[in-house]
Amino acid sequence: MTDFAQHLQAVHERMAAAARNAGRDPHSVALLAVSKTFPAEDVRAAHAAGQRAFGENYVQESVDKIEALDDLRASLEWHFIGPLQSNKTRLVAERFDWVHSVDRLKIAERLSAQRPAGMAPLNVCLQVNVSGEASKSGVTTQEAPEVARAIAALPRLRLRGLMSIPEPQDTLEAQRAPHRELRALFDALNAQGFALDTLSMGMSADLEAAVLEGATIVRVGTAIFGARDYAH
Ligand SMILES: *Cc1c(COP(=O)(O)O)cnc(C)c1O
Repeated sequence: MTDFAQHLQAVHERMAAAARNAGRDPHSVALLAVSKTFPAEDVRAAHAAGQRAFGENYVQESVDKIEALDDLRASLEWHFIGPLQSNKTRLVAERFDWVHSVDRLKIAERLSAQRPAGMAPLNVCLQVNVSGEASKSGVTTQEAPEVARAIAALPRLRLRGLMSIPEPQDTLEAQRAPHRELRALFDALNAQGFALDTLSMGMSADLEAAVLEGATIVRVGTAIFGARDYAH
């Protein structure tokens, strides 16, 4: 087995164990492999090991990677998960299947306007700044219903759910608290009539906590590809 296949299997085992502990079906949690800073050939190797969904943070890096992997396009799903500036939305709208990091209405409006007519609507998550958020982006839980309503009305987007990036914590209990907060917001929005099916939360260090609190997509980089080297 290749390293990637081994790492992917280990991550799937962690996800399944957490799902069982939560009384959830292991198939209700999907793995997004976060390939930022890693070359296209690593994505190709992970794809050969069965992985289909990949997450990217940097627009130019991902555009080059998607192009280099064009021969696999039909069996790859690309998710943009990084900070998105308005002057870069077109590149993302034209190339990605999902955007998890929609953190303001203006970005959503641009993505909808720029999504090509021949493509399926772009799947999006609203990024929420839960307590102890690592990045300072994202709407507050108070703002979320109004922004979500406006996004859900945009013609070329499909609002799928919520995403967050909490501050790293050492204990399982501390890791669970912000995930529980996002889950509560998710339930409240669905009670108000939204039909959200996606909770994008949990990374290499806290995926168990996220699955215990209801994550449907965990975003895992380091545990699959190894430590990132930002010097390159
Ligand atoms: C880099 C990144 C991840 C993956 O983090 P790891 O700790 O390497 O698993 C997940 N989500 C977002 C938004 C990221 O930027």
